[in-house]
Amino acid sequence: MKASRLVAGAFTAAALASAASRPAAAAQASTAAPSLTKPAKFLFAAVPKPDAGSVSAPIGRYWNGCMSGAVHMPGAGPSWQTVRPDANREWGTPFLLSYLRRISAKAQAAGVWRGIIIGDMSQPRGGPLPSSHVSHQVGLEADVWFRPMPDHVMTHAERDTIYSTVMTLPSGLDVDPKTFTQDVVDFIRISADDPAVDRMFVNPAIKKALCRVAKGAPWMTKVRPYWGHRSHYHVRLVCPPGAKSCVPQEAMPPGDGCDKSLNWWFTPAVLHPKPNPKAKPRPPLTLAGMPAACRAELTKP
Ligand SMILES: [Zn+2]
Repeated sequence: MKASRLVAGAFTAAALASAASRPAAAAQASTAAPSLTKPAKFLFAAVPKPDAGSVSAPIGRYWNGCMSGAVHMPGAGPSWQTVRPDANREWGTPFLLSYLRRISAKAQAAGVWRGIIIGDMSQPRGGPLPSSHVSHQVGLEADVWFRPMPDHVMTHAERDTIYSTVMTLPSGLDVDPKTFTQDVVDFIRISADDPAVDRMFVNPAIKKALCRVAKGAPWMTKVRPYWGHRSHYHVRLVCPPGAKSCVPQEAMPPGDGCDKSLNWWFTPAVLHPKPNPKAKPRPPLTLAGMPAACRAELTKP
């Protein structure tokens, strides 16, 4: 989700978005005390590698945290490929990597897709991203594209330039029946119907379409409407068992989300929000406002 589209409320920080801007320069973690007042996104984006030898753990909140002992998702596996290799965001907790391997293998075995395309995960030490993402900070979230992986291992150039498929009509009022096909529904179901999933964000038009074919399904509770997400879903996993520094999000409201509350997303003011010139931009996250363990994370070799 884009920061500029955030609406009031505590939950709004819990978000996502696409976009990928390459960190300007990569540097080793420094043993000098990192700045507490600079935007933390620049500090985290500048560290090219995870901390060596640390136990893998998510630290803090999905939208204010970091990660120790990150593991790397290989660019190509039996049922997945990753994209935008230069962005250095294919890092996560083992819990996230297991999830992505599991659901991609399931989709493949079910004959839904030959494999999946994984977009942004987290940076090598987690933390805020330099683009418009708000969450993706603790190694428990990923963007997965609504497009099967190609029938060959993509070259570096292909991974850099491929795009996903848009599922919605330009009006935003509904899905495009030419692209939103049964395999997409099946893939979302396989992805959401996994006990590791806390919630998943899709465009409101996609949620509306899912309500037509899967109303009442228990996994629908986890599939939430949000701005953007026309060509990928954002999945957020629960805190893994034993992850003491991981702060869970409040529980999802009960129900399948196919009630009247969905109509709000299709009102003109929400579909086409006007910029508010009086709105003050949210101050950037700094280390001073982050868990103390994330400060330490930046100074580890
Ligand atoms: Zn995302």
